[in-house]
Amino acid sequence: DSVEVQIEDQEFQLEPDNELRFEVENKNETVVLELKTGLAEIFGTELVKGKSYTFHFGAKIAVFTWQGCSLKLRGKKGISYISKETPMMFYLNCHASLEQLRVKSEKENIRGPVTMVVGPTDVGKSTLCRILLNYSARMNALGRRPIYVDLDPGQGQISVPGTIGAVMVERPAEVEESFSQAAPLVYHYGHTNMSINSTLYNTLISRMAEVIHQRMDENPRINCSGLIINTCGWVKGKGYQHLTHIALAFEVDVILVLDQERLYNELVRDMPVFVKVVLLPKSGGVVERNNKFRLEGREARIREYFYGSPRNVLHPHTCEVRFSDIKVYRIGSPPIPNTLMPLDMQKTDLETKLEPVTPGLNMMHHILALSFSTTVEEDVVRTTVAGFVCVTNVDTSRQMLTLLSPQPKPLPETIYLMSDVQFMDNNA
Ligand code: ATP
Repeated sequence: DSVEVQIEDQEFQLEPDNELRFEVENKNETVVLELKTGLAEIFGTELVKGKSYTFHFGAKIAVFTWQGCSLKLRGKKGISYISKETPMMFYLNCHASLEQLRVKSEKENIRGPVTMVVGPTDVGKSTLCRILLNYSARMNALGRRPIYVDLDPGQGQISVPGTIGAVMVERPAEVEESFSQAAPLVYHYGHTNMSINSTLYNTLISRMAEVIHQRMDENPRINCSGLIINTCGWVKGKGYQHLTHIALAFEVDVILVLDQERLYNELVRDMPVFVKVVLLPKSGGVVERNNKFRLEGREARIREYFYGSPRNVLHPHTCEVRFSDIKVYRIGSPPIPNTLMPLDMQKTDLETKLEPVTPGLNMMHHILALSFSTTVEEDVVRTTVAGFVCVTNVDTSRQMLTLLSPQPKPLPETIYLMSDVQFMDNNA
């Protein structure tokens, strides 16, 4: 039931409940979209009639209309098509149910809905989160302030890959951008895969849940709006255990399961009865991304952190610091054989241990997170981070590191946490 057409600079008529899907497939290609008549939205953000929206390489877009509309696409060389089958009605119903829970929480002065979105890779988890957040932010008369929590360290939607984070959503995301990033809450994990240090991952989840619950208790508006939690696509074995840990730590009320009956059944079996588990279909438009594409996505995310986007160009600084002037740590020590392990120490203690790193070539291209802690006497591991730098050069003869940084000068007392994540700065 999808109509496929080859186009270049073309107009589309969409019936109610249809969507136009397209991708920007080539580097240097840009596609410009314009809404000519009617009403339309992209992942929950309404389009403004007559405004040009520009999309760059890697964008995978669906323009959906509840009422019908006409659209113009300029510069599109590959395939784009209109689909009449979308799960948008299910997603809208989810939003309506969450809204009912928010109204109830306002009336009864209790916590609003804590929603977790789960499912395997490439089923549209991030997209569903975005739609639900945009729908609640669009009801501005109600002043909703949901918190978006992204627990997938592989993509780093809120900050850079290797972190998990949360941000309060006050208004719908701009069509071409992610949610505005005022004062995000960011924790350094240091890896893109949860399995590398499960103990640390779970420790950070518990801490983050604690901090967010506290914010909810202090702010009635955030409290009744609730949370939308995005998770990672690893749903089997240990990955499943992470999901149940997240559900417990954040005290979730609703779990939206995309596209996997087995996962749905497991959660129905294992969750307390008051947790509502809902199975939802995935959209046929969700595009599968291979490892190469994911890697490129990570790189693009880090580049954007330092250099901004075409709409918001940033100018990072390059600075040199002496090896002796910088305090760098990593979290988690290499495993030691059981026989050498001190009696009062557990394996899990090692995984959350702060270990000093001696500056040198081992730091080349690595991302370093700037902790909000200033001494190691503080709880550095469970403290949020303020930002990131990237090591772009190591000069062992002069004992100097070159850092790419959003700030002109590093502060002397900063504690840096070294990430496994690397970034090659081709702009330098
Ligand atoms: P991950 O496996 O990384 O957790 P995910 O399940 O969160 O992925 P998304 O990131 O939401 O999946 O979606 C994958 C890609 O598909 C995104 O680039 C998104 O823009 C695109 N996409 C989602 N829905 C549609 C749609 N209806 N039509 C076209 N593209 C879509």
